[in-house]
Formats: sequence, C-alpha cells, structure tokens
Amino acid sequence: MLSMKNISRVYRSDTIQTHALRDFNLQVEAGEFVAVTGPSGSGKSTFLNVAGLLDDFNEGEYILDGTSVNGLSDDDLSRLRNEKIGFIFQNYNLIPDYSIYDNVDMPLRYRGLSAKQRRSRIEHALELVGLASRHAYLPSQLSGGQQQRVAIARALAGEPKILLADEPTGNLDSLMARQIMDLLKEINKKGSTIIMVTHDPDQAREVNRNIQIIDGQITDYSIYAPVSKAQT
Ligand code: ADP
Ligand code: ADP
Repeated sequence: MLSMKNISRVYRSDTIQTHALRDFNLQVEAGEFVAVTGPSGSGKSTFLNVAGLLDDFNEGEYILDGTSVNGLSDDDLSRLRNEKIGFIFQNYNLIPDYSIYDNVDMPLRYRGLSAKQRRSRIEHALELVGLASRHAYLPSQLSGGQQQRVAIARALAGEPKILLADEPTGNLDSLMARQIMDLLKEINKKGSTIIMVTHDPDQAREVNRNIQIIDGQITDYSIYAPVSKAQT
C-alpha cells in the first residue's frame, strides 16, 4: 500500500539544517493498522505529511498504492492525495460555520459525483460514526469526541485507500479517546489501512504494529499482531 525507501526530509534555514527524516524505510501492507510513536521533534508529523503528500522530500523513493510519487506535478499530487488519502487531525480541522453535513461533504466536491451519490456517501459515513441525527448541527454544538467522529466521517466519505491520523485522541478525555480508538479499529476491520501517530503506549499496543521514530529514523519495528486474512 505504501513503500518508502531511503527517504530524507531536510529543513534548511540560514543557520541550521534539520534532518526531520533520514534514510527512512517503511513498508505498510493493505489492511494494516500501524501506530507511530516517538519523542517530540523526532519526525512523526513530517513522516505523516510526506506520506499524505502534504510535504515534499529531498531524497528517496515513495510509492503510494502502486504510484511512484517522485517527479509528479503539484496537480497530480493533489489528485493522488484526494483520491487515496484521508486525514484525521488532533484538533479536528472542521470548518466552524459549515454544518456537520457540509463538513463531511468537503472531500466529495470536485469529484464528479452526482448529488445523490454524495448524499448517500455522507449519510453512510455519518451513520457509521453514530452522528446521522446531528447532520444539521454546527461543530461548536458537538463535544470534542463527536467533532472527531465528524472528522473521521469526512475522511471516510472520500473512500480513501489509507487513513492518516495525527494524534486523533490527543485532545480527548480517556472515555472519548476509547470510543475513537474503537471506531478506528472497526474501520480498520472493514479493510481501511490506518497509520496513526500517538503518544499513548497502550493505543500503540492494540494495533497490528508499532513503529518508533527517533531522530528521523525508525528504531523499533515491533510487530504485535499480523493482519489477519479476514482483515485484508
Ligand atoms: P508534536 O507532533 O510533537 O505534537 P509539532 O509537530 O507541532 O508537535 O511540532 C514538533 C516540533 O517541530 C516542535 O519543536 C515545533 O517547534 C517544530 N515545528 C513544527 N512545525 C514547524 C515549523 N513550521 N517550523 C519550525 N519548526 C516547526
Ligand atoms: P514530531 O511530529 O515527532 O514532533 P516533527 O516531524 O514535527 O516531529 O519535526 C521533526 C524535526 O523537524 C524537528 O526538529 C522540527 O523542529 C523540524 N521541523 C518540522 N517542521 C519543520 C519546518 N517546517 N521547518 C523547519 N523545521 C521543521
């Protein structure tokens, strides 16, 4: 599903250069749920941004679902990102003055879907996260956990090949965090590949694999549970 070979990402300023990723190698198979842990500043967000085609890299080769990303134009990158990737952020990133329904509709605009297809995808995604009855609410009228569920519905509405989540439970209390984890695991069981950055070691243990990034490199490659055949 995703293959990175010898990826480097260097940030340069006048005085310093930071190797946010150095000689970074990773393969993620379809259907895996991978947790990414590591100290602050170790390169976790950079990795997710490169994986999600939001950030460029300086060296190496990145193949996303069979397409080599190297040398693609910005237009092709946007197209590939829209088609393949769903994002979930720590702070939800919902549009405050759009209804829940319109937020979930975001990735479906400009996709050449009919109004009926869009409605069906939005309703389906909101049902999956248990918020169908709240479609007319504004984000501010929902709890943090509910807002994150809307963000998950939005990501799923695009039917991505891969979900990238940057500390999705970072702003939630433990009960809501539990609910979000259960929802992500359910989505994974239905076949979605998920890569999630987390600071919570317990969360990292309950998925297929936990990789640890230190100083821009993978240092730990623990496999907790291989993907079952039923999952793929
Ligand atoms: P975390 O992923 O640990 O929650 P962030 O990704 O927000 O935190 O930031 C991690 C580190 O990267 C911080 O030290 C932050 O200052 C630095 N950082 C993030 N974005 C930038 C940027 N645009 N320019 C410089 N440093 C940045
Ligand atoms: P993490 O998510 O693990 O906290 P990051 O990927 O945010 O780490 O950052 C990795 C390193 O790259 C840090 O040293 C950070 O300060 C640096 N960095 C991240 N983004 C930028 C940026 N846009 N400009 C300059 N340095 C950055």
